[in-house]
Amino acid sequence: MAKSDTEFTGFVKVRGAREHNLKNVNLDIPRNALVVFTGISGSGKSSLAFGTLYAEAQRRYLESVSPYARRLFNQMAIPEVDEIEGLPPAVALQQQRGAVSTRSSVGSVTTLSNLLRMLYSRAGDYPKGQGIIYAESFSPNTPEGACTECHGLGRVYEITEKTMVPDDTLTIREKAIAAWPSAWQGQNQRDILTTMGYNIDVPWKDLPKKDRDWILFTEEQPVVPVYSGYSHEEIKNFIKNKRQPDYMGTFTGARRYVRHTFANSQSALMKKRVSQYMISSECPLCKGKRLRQESLSVKFAGYDIAELSRLALNKLATIFAPYATGEATALKKIETAYPEKVEVAKRIAEDFVARLQVMLDLGLGYLTVERSTPTLSPGELQRLRLATQVRSNLFGVVYVLDEPSAGLHPADTEALLRALDKLKAAGNSLFVVEHEIDVIRHADWIVDVGPAAGEKGGHILYSGLPEGLRNIKESLTRQYVYDNVVSNSNEPRTPKDWLKLEGITRNNLSELTASFPLGVLTSVTGVSGSGKSSLVSQVLVELAAEQLGLQVDITADKDEDPLEQSEVQTLGGKIVSGMKSIKRLVVVDQKPIGRTPRSNLATYTGLFDHVRKLFAATQMAKTRKFDAGQFSFNVAKGRCPHCEGEGMVMVELLFLPSVYTPCPTCGGTRYNPKTLEVRYKDKNIAEVLGLTVDEAASFFDEEPAISRALEVVREVGLGYLRLGQPATELSGGEAQRIKLATELQRAQNGQTLYILDEPTTGLHPSDVERLLLQLNRLVDAGNTVILVEHDMDVIAASDWVIDIGPGAGEAGGNIVAEGIPADIVKSKHSRTAPYLAKHL
Ligand code: ADP
Ligand code: ADP
Ligand code: ZN
Ligand code: ZN
Repeated sequence: MAKSDTEFTGFVKVRGAREHNLKNVNLDIPRNALVVFTGISGSGKSSLAFGTLYAEAQRRYLESVSPYARRLFNQMAIPEVDEIEGLPPAVALQQQRGAVSTRSSVGSVTTLSNLLRMLYSRAGDYPKGQGIIYAESFSPNTPEGACTECHGLGRVYEITEKTMVPDDTLTIREKAIAAWPSAWQGQNQRDILTTMGYNIDVPWKDLPKKDRDWILFTEEQPVVPVYSGYSHEEIKNFIKNKRQPDYMGTFTGARRYVRHTFANSQSALMKKRVSQYMISSECPLCKGKRLRQESLSVKFAGYDIAELSRLALNKLATIFAPYATGEATALKKIETAYPEKVEVAKRIAEDFVARLQVMLDLGLGYLTVERSTPTLSPGELQRLRLATQVRSNLFGVVYVLDEPSAGLHPADTEALLRALDKLKAAGNSLFVVEHEIDVIRHADWIVDVGPAAGEKGGHILYSGLPEGLRNIKESLTRQYVYDNVVSNSNEPRTPKDWLKLEGITRNNLSELTASFPLGVLTSVTGVSGSGKSSLVSQVLVELAAEQLGLQVDITADKDEDPLEQSEVQTLGGKIVSGMKSIKRLVVVDQKPIGRTPRSNLATYTGLFDHVRKLFAATQMAKTRKFDAGQFSFNVAKGRCPHCEGEGMVMVELLFLPSVYTPCPTCGGTRYNPKTLEVRYKDKNIAEVLGLTVDEAASFFDEEPAISRALEVVREVGLGYLRLGQPATELSGGEAQRIKLATELQRAQNGQTLYILDEPTTGLHPSDVERLLLQLNRLVDAGNTVILVEHDMDVIAASDWVIDIGPGAGEAGGNIVAEGIPADIVKSKHSRTAPYLAKHL
């Protein structure tokens, strides 16, 4: 429960904080307390908690370490702040959206894997006669542990004639060898074969086997003269007469090319292209378990370590419990013969169970040790890290967290609060950026930032005990915490048709049948891990995309390893009806709208095209023969040649991470001087990119195409963003709303299926209201919107609810209840029902 202020052990004093939009603010925040930072999106909460407090703590810490060690940190910018007093060392548990995924697993992040390896090494059951093996031998990533056949990959890759030459009636000239590079490189290989006397004009199947094998499988790389466009006979003559060749070409066999590209290419796209010529199958020796046979022969509780790593954490907890207490019969049997072994097993099991318990408390019991972290949601990953911290026995530090309730069903939020309380009780401070009312109500201290977003935010509206927030008139947060804002209780709309899916099998879903109503707003609900994302974001998206003939694999991240992708596609199910009323599929996620500073709001929404045309139509542009391309910072003619339109240049510092600074040539404007001389009204193109959306709306009020685009951006609550604000500076929620705005300004034909996975993440309740308004507009225009959602206000305002569960993982995966919200609350088995009831 909340403390009275006399109990705080001291305060962190912030003076003159000006990071991003913060207005030179001063505030005192208690230590050893749960401090919650609130405010609408873009108000400046993160700029204060992460950009100022955490960044300063990190800066101080890094000053104390060697320059070499400093390079290993993902160093934050030095914060704009005069002074911070009383700041303990800080640990940030930030959600990393769209961040690069390292190859790690639940086991490695939580160190459970290390513990398991030690257990197998020291307390496992060895076959008779086998000597003890070291812990490293239980890791597939070490030479001692890796399976000798697949080198620890668990899969073997075969490259065959059939895969590389899918159509053997084609000739080599007709590109029979599909695996070879296209374009010039492929032409080069064909020319080399001609020089060498291979016939490239007979169907592949009619070539002698010896030739086919050599072309595909040779490791030799002969270098031969190339005379492009001539026959073998002509070339023979040229060589005899010592005619100068076009160049000397190096031959590469097709399999060698595929292997080499797959192993060495920097481009994920190239890797993906060549991966289609490799047949991957489970390793016949280790059966996909990745370990060598000696390691797999060691058992604990009857399982080898790979089998154990594939069990859900809650199952593991049950298996280990009797070992932790010493009651397991397996232990009793060997007690007298091997007392040390029993002792080791007990100690490790105790530690293991205690760590697991925290993860189970945080609603993560459905995960497995083996699960790779890129397949986890950002919220799940953050909670895993949190669980690891709870057991770390650190004290006297500040934990800075970013919306830890993201992805949590209200039923799981209570456990989260208990974990936070434990960290606090151990003597730590917690600074948490949060929107969830239940977390805000649990705070010892509230810092409310506002009143609005961007330039209109950045003030501290309140910093004090929760009760005091009641009296702060201009606080939007106050209304939601203390006045029960009642959500609209409109009559649910009637579905126009149904999209019916059958035989859905994926992750924890098995042979499931589901029907989604069309022309209405549907929320898919359930505790975390129940199967919502599997159903909606994975199966539904993929099946609908397939039926619409979409080439793009919407769910796959471009940067993802193609190997990882091929493994998760175990999918069963089909759409049996309803697709005829759907013409488009749009997935609106929180992934960044671009990964470089070259994309921004103006380019993404398409409004920059109109702006550039306006500049090209000015008198000066016409005289100088400047077209619209002149005003693009991605095209050479108009942009600054030094920074090539980035506006920033990277400065390499010895022993420190490189930093970006404004380009000295263009002063950060991105354009060359000639281009900047052109003005529309009184502004040049760089100044226009510097306008906020709100300012641009009045600047362009005579231009309907631009005004309309700007208007929708304002309606989704992003009027505070600058037109040229780089995509890399936007939060996940901001990116998502830009995507929504872009959709809203399209001409609506009413036959689009929109899918959103937890769109309320990162949104203040007042922003959630806006979002609902926008979603309802999409539905009113005749579209279908399907959400995965935890926010009870959104669920209550939906036309239809599909509740998945009842539990997580194996205990979930079924449809527990479906119907209009008023009917869902009557369900006896739905864990959503009791929470939803309070919002109807
Ligand atoms: P909140 O956490 O309350 O959603 P933020 O602190 O993320 O708000 O953002 C406050 C303001 O600072 C917004 O106008 C946002 O666009 C801006 N901002 C955020 N990150 C950056 C950045 N890296 N560079 C410049 N401006 C930023
Ligand atoms: P929700 O969206 O309701 O939180 P999910 O659909 O993400 O639930 O998860 C349902 C079950 O499927 C869980 O047991 C989860 O661990 C498992 N799961 C989800 N995604 C993957 C994946 N990419 N690989 C393996 N298991 C997964
Ligand atoms: Zn193997
Ligand atoms: Zn420049």
